Amino acid sequence: MNWTPNPERYSQMVYNTCGKSGLKLPAISLGLWHNFGDDKPHQTKQAICRTAFDRGITHFDLANNYGPPPGSAELAFGRILKEDFAGLRDELIISSKAGYDMWPGPYGEWGSRKYLIASCDQSLKRMGLAYVDIFYSHRFDPNTPLEETMMALDHIVRSGRALYVGISSYNSKRTREAAAILKELGTPCLIHQPSYSMLNRWVEEDGLVDTLEELGIGSIVFSPLAQGMLSTKYLNDIPDDSRASQHKSLNPDFLSEKNIANIKALNEIALQRGQTLAQMAIAWVLRKGRITSALIGASRPEQVIDCAKAVDNLLFTDAELQQIDHYATD
Ligand code: NDP
Repeated sequence: MNWTPNPERYSQMVYNTCGKSGLKLPAISLGLWHNFGDDKPHQTKQAICRTAFDRGITHFDLANNYGPPPGSAELAFGRILKEDFAGLRDELIISSKAGYDMWPGPYGEWGSRKYLIASCDQSLKRMGLAYVDIFYSHRFDPNTPLEETMMALDHIVRSGRALYVGISSYNSKRTREAAAILKELGTPCLIHQPSYSMLNRWVEEDGLVDTLEELGIGSIVFSPLAQGMLSTKYLNDIPDDSRASQHKSLNPDFLSEKNIANIKALNEIALQRGQTLAQMAIAWVLRKGRITSALIGASRPEQVIDCAKAVDNLLFTDAELQQIDHYATD
């Protein structure tokens, strides 16, 4: 290892208990959906991961299909684990998922036992790991009995491939069903991974946050910055090196005049709080302690440094929350 992690890292982050489990997750976690494919230099990926860990971000979130091409983010992360994090495995929470299109034919996506177990094995191989800490069903499969998907997750834990399991983007009703099956099987559902941000509040309307609290399931919310829209980067134009300019998953149509006006107003509130907009967006999803972790992405280390400072001010006054509600709409 040619890098020594910051010895002060654990005093810089807040750690929240994940539902009714013994596992603590950092209030901010790092996802490798974008920026970890073969189209990006290894040095940048390495610097992003080192910077995150140096700030106490112990949780790295992956999926079989992250890239491009699919699988390449896990390969890149495997290299980082070997070269930079050797000897640190027990300080890391690493997750992966299966559910989306990964390989050709009828066994390369959705929620069958055949696909989930094969995909988990492939992910472990790409990352050079004996086990992942959390393995997720990435999406609900309407054509596979939920019992089969949950039994596959249970098997993945019992066979030592994962320590815990979770589900992603299941609605409240499906979450209740999945959690009941897992409970019966003896492998509790540790965590749910839905999208949530000031510009995407479906989890409130669906009742998912209440459901998770009631069932004692933790929550890690993805895209809390609405893929970068909840930062200052799009206030005046669309920068060339941004996600929106590359037409990846962020459709530039979202950057409508109305949305930009709302984002500008939210930025003013953030400034009054002495935070950047990205920091306020993260603090907002974590407000009132109902969400375990905010799962961010980053294209450069400076963004991780900015986001990690969100934990310096997680409290909101009622007046601030009301002001934010006025502009924070789907
Ligand atoms: P974010 O909403 O945090 O968006 C990340 C992007 O925001 C970055 O790539 C960067 O954009 C911009 N950004 C980040 N920090 C800053 C900053 N401080 N200032 C300005 N801009 C900033 O999350 P993602 O959409 O990337 O998702 C995060 C993770 O969630 C994924 O990596 C993945 O692990 C998980 N996820 C899970 C899904 C699921 O189905 N379960 C689906 C989607 C994501 P730019 O690249 O333009 O610089």
